[in-house]
Amino acid sequence: MLTHPYLTTLLARVEARDPTETEFHQAVREVFESLQGVVEKHPVYIERGVLDMMVEPERVISFRVPWVDDQGRVQVNRGYRVQFNSAIGPYKGGLRFHPSVTLDTVKFLAFEQTFKNALTGLPMGGAKGGADFDPKGHSDGEIMRFCQSFMTELARHIGADTDVPAGDIGVGAREIGYLFGQYKRLRNEFTGALTGKGTAYGGSLIRPEATGYGAVYYTAELLASHGEGIWGKTFALSGYGNVTWGTVKKIRELGGKVLTLSGRDGYIYDKDGVSTDEKVDFLLGMRESRSGVRAYAEKFGVPFYEGARPWGVKVDVAMPCATQNEVGIDEAKQLVANGVKYYVEVSNMPTSAEALAYLRAHGVTVAPSKAVNAGGVAVSCLEMAQNAGHTAWSAEEVDDRLRAIMKDIYASTLSAARTYGAEGDLVAGANIAGFLRVANAMLSLGVC
Ligand code: GLU
Repeated sequence: MLTHPYLTTLLARVEARDPTETEFHQAVREVFESLQGVVEKHPVYIERGVLDMMVEPERVISFRVPWVDDQGRVQVNRGYRVQFNSAIGPYKGGLRFHPSVTLDTVKFLAFEQTFKNALTGLPMGGAKGGADFDPKGHSDGEIMRFCQSFMTELARHIGADTDVPAGDIGVGAREIGYLFGQYKRLRNEFTGALTGKGTAYGGSLIRPEATGYGAVYYTAELLASHGEGIWGKTFALSGYGNVTWGTVKKIRELGGKVLTLSGRDGYIYDKDGVSTDEKVDFLLGMRESRSGVRAYAEKFGVPFYEGARPWGVKVDVAMPCATQNEVGIDEAKQLVANGVKYYVEVSNMPTSAEALAYLRAHGVTVAPSKAVNAGGVAVSCLEMAQNAGHTAWSAEEVDDRLRAIMKDIYASTLSAARTYGAEGDLVAGANIAGFLRVANAMLSLGVC
């Protein structure tokens, strides 16, 4: 509950300034709730205006994206880049192409990204971008023309030491390729201004798997601190995209069993687990064709539940991997009723505020997305390091670094929570640890 007078007033100001941005308000409220003990102990963050600056993006860019479809008609989408905070490094964060994308979505994601990036311990500020464009249902040529038009505007705002975009929902290897091709052409330079690139042109090994692998490494740390492990555990996952795929691969490798996958069409329940090469490859194919998950049920003869979400299934660990607010109060009640012990957020802010409060009040251990999914952006930073050093590391080297980063993130979230009187509360710990790193840099940099 938010009771601190200054934070309450500041949140009210944020809400009044942009009254329709409810996702952004939700993200700010969650962070403020965690920071009450910190500002009590260190009023300097209030006195020096750090919190006021932190809730206002440094720059918001919105632009027209005109392109020509296969019928020769002009189509117009809207593109965004929100450069939220550059106190600890160049802006960094993904691009999302999805019909639901609004300025509100991009702003909350950029705000979250600022804390997430800080948690990695690497020098990256926070940003996010995207467009209300749906790659699903468009030809390859249309997607290429869209990406080229999007980059024609975005190029003037980014650069290897300024702002480094990457993928997110709807932006995978193909889109990054077209975006990077256009960037290179416009700038006449080959620099690491985007991450998530193909390995043939400067991408890092393990980047496609990194978010999922990192999430499982974090989960393994969490389970180990409760004297448990991934081996033999059952998992409910949502989504069927890149993040879900990486998570499935690593859970399988460590001996756990993934029972569900989901898409816009519904979810599948595989009692034997997504546990063979054939099934994992099939998942990869579905991801590429963006077709939904029904095909998995048809192929492997397992049940498909049309239009439903997978949170009513009995498992040890639930891992939402799809999108924001995918778990509401009804789903939270189902998870509790089924005795789910661990709830690990993989997608960004997957849980409504009410659902989050319910899960925590009912003794479910919650691991927050800012910490859990930070492995993706962490390996993006490793890609930037390789590009800047004109070199390429082995998969083992990248994976070892990723594992070490996730271990550190788990330790720092635990210790921040302990220091500020929230022992064992990983949500508070992630918000506090991320905040302190950015806020202390902002104190050093002055009003800017
Ligand atoms: N979109 C991913 C995220 O939410 C990755 C961002 C990046 O690699 O820059 O963190």
